[in-house]
Amino acid sequence: MQKMDAIFSQNPLDRLDQVRGDKAQFEWLKQCCDSLFILISGTDIITDAQFNCLLNLEQLATYGVDQQGAILLGKFDGIHYFALNVDGDAKPPLNKISIRDYAMQRHLPEAMFGIIAQATSVINWHKSHPNCACCGSDTLIAHSGWRRDCPNCERQHFPRVDPVVIMLVTYGEQCLLGRGHQFAENRYSCLAGFVESGETIEDAARRELFEEAGVIGGEVGYMMSQPWPFPSNLMMGMHVHAKTQRLNIDYNELADAFWVDKSDVIKALNGDESLPFILPPSIAIARNLLEIWVGMDGFELVTKV
Ligand SMILES: [Zn+2]
Repeated sequence: MQKMDAIFSQNPLDRLDQVRGDKAQFEWLKQCCDSLFILISGTDIITDAQFNCLLNLEQLATYGVDQQGAILLGKFDGIHYFALNVDGDAKPPLNKISIRDYAMQRHLPEAMFGIIAQATSVINWHKSHPNCACCGSDTLIAHSGWRRDCPNCERQHFPRVDPVVIMLVTYGEQCLLGRGHQFAENRYSCLAGFVESGETIEDAARRELFEEAGVIGGEVGYMMSQPWPFPSNLMMGMHVHAKTQRLNIDYNELADAFWVDKSDVIKALNGDESLPFILPPSIAIARNLLEIWVGMDGFELVTKV
């Protein structure tokens, strides 16, 4: 299969695991004049007036941001990259913009957006995990930001990633689209759900499909994946060959679902506004899965079953 990359899935950094445990080197790298810093504020990112989010030490100092709490992301092209948490509003001329909008507007080359996903996920993990899950004590940041250690029970805690399956469900020349209760009007997408403990991604795809839509899934193949940093999901795009088409929608989970002809998916992907549905935006892996299915841009759907 020709490779199609979802936004946030390309990350050029060498993550430098060998450096993370070397505190002296970590401290030195944070103060290098050519190091670059990504400032994350929840689901927003801080940029300069030109929407550049890769800020140098001089810019940090000018706007009163301290690099002390920085997390080492890695190295690319001789430059070291760090992430920093910032609270409150950006000081002009720095701007605050939602990461979704930043990605939609492609303010960085697509080949760099994985760095944003990495920074956002790890920063928000630190914010939401200040205490030890075993004894409740305050934990301390360690290993250049890739661990939190408990000084009381000595347990080590690592940034978590939550696996999600998102399914292109097909039956012949039709695919299943659904809409969540929180979706924008008329927006439909692929069904998705979290993988549960002790479950393969193939079984998770079949289970979610049956739970949400009452459709029985048959063969399942992996298509592609995407880090989705809201806050730290890993979206795993799967192709499910449905064995049945009759819908039994769980309206607690979905507002609606229906089968769509491939020809209408092609029209919708091409911006046809006369259809009763619109598809997800370009930053969503669901759109990539549909593009692959219809063969847009020469991409061929070949999944390993
Ligand atoms: Zn503890």
